Amino acid sequence: MTVAVSPWSQYKDFATPPTNQMNKNIFCVFALVLLVTVFSAATAAAPRTMRLDYYHTGNSAQEMFSVDRVVIEPLPWPGDMTKAIDDTNLGKYFFEVRDQKTKRILYSRGFASIYGEWETTDEAKAMMRTFSESLRFPTPAAPVEIVLKKRDANNAWTNIWTIPVDPKDIFIDRSQTPAPARLIPIQKMGDPATKVDFLILGDGYTARDLRKFERDARRLTEVLFATSPFKEHRRDFNVWALCPAAAQSGISRPSTGIYRDSPLGATYDAFGSERYVLTFDNHALRKVAQFAPYEFIEILANNRTYGGGGIFNLYSTVAVDNAFANYVFVHEFGHHFAGLADEYYTSSVAYSPSTERVEPWEPNATALLDPANLKWKDLVSPDTPIPTLWNKEAFENYSREIQKRRAKLRLDKRPENEMEALFREELKHEQAMFAAEKYGRRVGAFEGAIYESKGYYRPEVDCIMFTRTNHFCAVCRRAIERIIQLYSRGG
Ligand SMILES: [Zn+2]
Repeated sequence: MTVAVSPWSQYKDFATPPTNQMNKNIFCVFALVLLVTVFSAATAAAPRTMRLDYYHTGNSAQEMFSVDRVVIEPLPWPGDMTKAIDDTNLGKYFFEVRDQKTKRILYSRGFASIYGEWETTDEAKAMMRTFSESLRFPTPAAPVEIVLKKRDANNAWTNIWTIPVDPKDIFIDRSQTPAPARLIPIQKMGDPATKVDFLILGDGYTARDLRKFERDARRLTEVLFATSPFKEHRRDFNVWALCPAAAQSGISRPSTGIYRDSPLGATYDAFGSERYVLTFDNHALRKVAQFAPYEFIEILANNRTYGGGGIFNLYSTVAVDNAFANYVFVHEFGHHFAGLADEYYTSSVAYSPSTERVEPWEPNATALLDPANLKWKDLVSPDTPIPTLWNKEAFENYSREIQKRRAKLRLDKRPENEMEALFREELKHEQAMFAAEKYGRRVGAFEGAIYESKGYYRPEVDCIMFTRTNHFCAVCRRAIERIIQLYSRGG
């Protein structure tokens, strides 16, 4: 373990609670960790986690924000105070916590949101909607202002909301309630302040399914750490699991007439896309998640039908019992963890096509507006042409046929094993095609990415963000490592 500078000095702008205010249960969970870590003193003095819940309302043309509540969560801040400032420049949105007097930035993070996706759908052209969102940060010692920024049409940041928060405000909710379920430590590698804290939540698991939840959480943890670069960084992660019992098994799937009031509110058919699984109930999610130290959240939906979703710095989801759950989990976690773009472009999505080509903020896609300055050019060998040729037309022809068969299987409500068989056939065919590519193992700029056949480029012929393969391309791997470094003290 690398011994870094003590983060004590980093706490001076934050409220450090006396130990007797800390949740006793949690203290027990951490006790062992505290004994073996060199950062134990710092963790005991870590500020609690503050959460600003707000409503994000609007349509495709306008948006506004309103405060819902401010909460001090039960647990200490799980992050590394020496890395309070986010310099990765990822996300459609970005927030800063600034000291009200000095304007010094105490904490910042980029993120994406359900609203940010929804505003690009056709529905947003026809109506207004409201989404609940949260910003979490270490509880400050003095009044602060929260500044929210959004990217403009050229992806430059503009301020869209500023709101003051006084930590002494009596209306900040400080209630301490019992956790809704037992916190399961799947793997504890050290003090949360020095590790990436990854929380796996279960939705649609009845009390009788809770053992299955723990098995599912452990299985997918192994899948994650079998995949590079998570594999090489396993020791940089703590993994926690928590699952409130559901009244009924499974989550909602409106397109087949299935409705559930599941504890986290996860549902298929988000934005009318049958495979897209999200929860729109942010408050339910936060009220459960706050009982674990967390920076990243995976929601396991106790379902067989293929599906999942992932939003940068919010959460990702997967239907655990599908034959392709391992793939969906890792792919969606790539969105959530590192802000990776979808490299695929032949499957249907709910988002309206963009007309202009602006350089995407995502690390693994480019509009190639300036080929000489390709953003991952340091990974490209000198004899690789940019853009890089591949058998695009053959791939697209094949993909179109598969999409037709896929849509028909869903339309005819065929059993899930028929869909899984189609995906196996597709993957086998694609892998044979890619094996014959001249630049199949090179980093370059391959046209076709982020839902567009033309004008956007991906880094390699294949990647788990492109097909249902099992590996990330070199550019995605590097983007993931950058986030691991932002949240851990590892290599
Ligand atoms: Zn990739």
